[in-house]
Amino acid sequence: MAVKGIYDYSRERLEAYFLEKKLAKFRATQIFEALYRIRISAFSQITNIKKEVIAQLEQDFTFPKLEIVTKNVARDGTTKFLFRLEDQSLIETVLMIHDYGYSVCVTSQVGCNMGCAFCASGMTKRIRNLTPAEMVLQVLTIDNYLRQEEKRVSHVVIMGIGEPFDNYDNVIEFIKIINDPKGLEIGARHITLSTCGIVPKIYEFAELNLQVNLAISLHFANDEKRSRYMKINKKYPLKALITALKDYFQKTKRRITFEYILLKGINDSLEDAKELCNLIRGLNCYVNLIPYNETGGIFKRSDEKVRDQFFDYLIKNKINAIIRKEHGHDINAACGQLRVQKMKEK
Ligand code: SAH
Repeated sequence: MAVKGIYDYSRERLEAYFLEKKLAKFRATQIFEALYRIRISAFSQITNIKKEVIAQLEQDFTFPKLEIVTKNVARDGTTKFLFRLEDQSLIETVLMIHDYGYSVCVTSQVGCNMGCAFCASGMTKRIRNLTPAEMVLQVLTIDNYLRQEEKRVSHVVIMGIGEPFDNYDNVIEFIKIINDPKGLEIGARHITLSTCGIVPKIYEFAELNLQVNLAISLHFANDEKRSRYMKINKKYPLKALITALKDYFQKTKRRITFEYILLKGINDSLEDAKELCNLIRGLNCYVNLIPYNETGGIFKRSDEKVRDQFFDYLIKNKINAIIRKEHGHDINAACGQLRVQKMKEK
């Protein structure tokens, strides 16, 4: 068997590995506890497993690490990590502090192919998918950092660079690993996956019924506009998206989040608000209105007054909505910005 990173393995897959080696499968639980509770950095640190088994593990698995390149702390405590992967690729991960806990915004791909016009991540094409281990290590490295202050990561949002449903299998494996009760134990309801709307994957995801939160980057409520700024809409237009979401709700009974960035003069009129209400009425959902993080392009953030009018319109029309609180505005916490900046410096 090829040498693989130990953090790539869910407990289920480790059990299969041990069975294949004719060893007891409870070893998988011991490994999980050692990795995610004790936080060993070498198999030799495990004390409750026989030497021969340890030797076998050392042969079959590596201990990948993330190198912290920079760490920027904003006034509100939001911390942005720039990590270097083993192949030298750079990725960003953001730690946010909420009144309900600590959440980590995880990157799922190096670059992104979705090409949404307003997004800094889309400026660089997808180079490759991240492995489960590379996503697990983003959470684990930040959790180790918090541990020094006796705190822990309580929430994970898969909203960093990349389209998680364009890296489906690895992202699902990642979710299983961080959710494992013998591991990091991040509750499914504390995990949110955000997608621009790859419809067939929404159906697949519904089948898994993981009880993870699903967020949809909607941003536009009519096909003409959405297709203009989001390529994915040409392939999966709004009708197909909404039908998939109805199916998702039927199977999982989980409320859906719609993300809607307010872009000045583009999607922030009361007419846009009306279209949005009409599109999502009847779905069990809520709308997260997001202040745009300007990235130097043609897109501007809506004025606060316009934003508030948009919000009021939704509420009056009985659509649940909130205006997203901003985090780390002073450190360019918008996805992709730091990485793009670093690449330009080169
Ligand atoms: N590809 C996934 C996840 C990554 S993007 C998705 O599309 O959902 C995470 C969220 O940030 C998306 O809603 C995206 O549209 C939004 N976003 C991208 N650029 C932004 C910016 N400059 N300001 C605010 N939100 C942005």
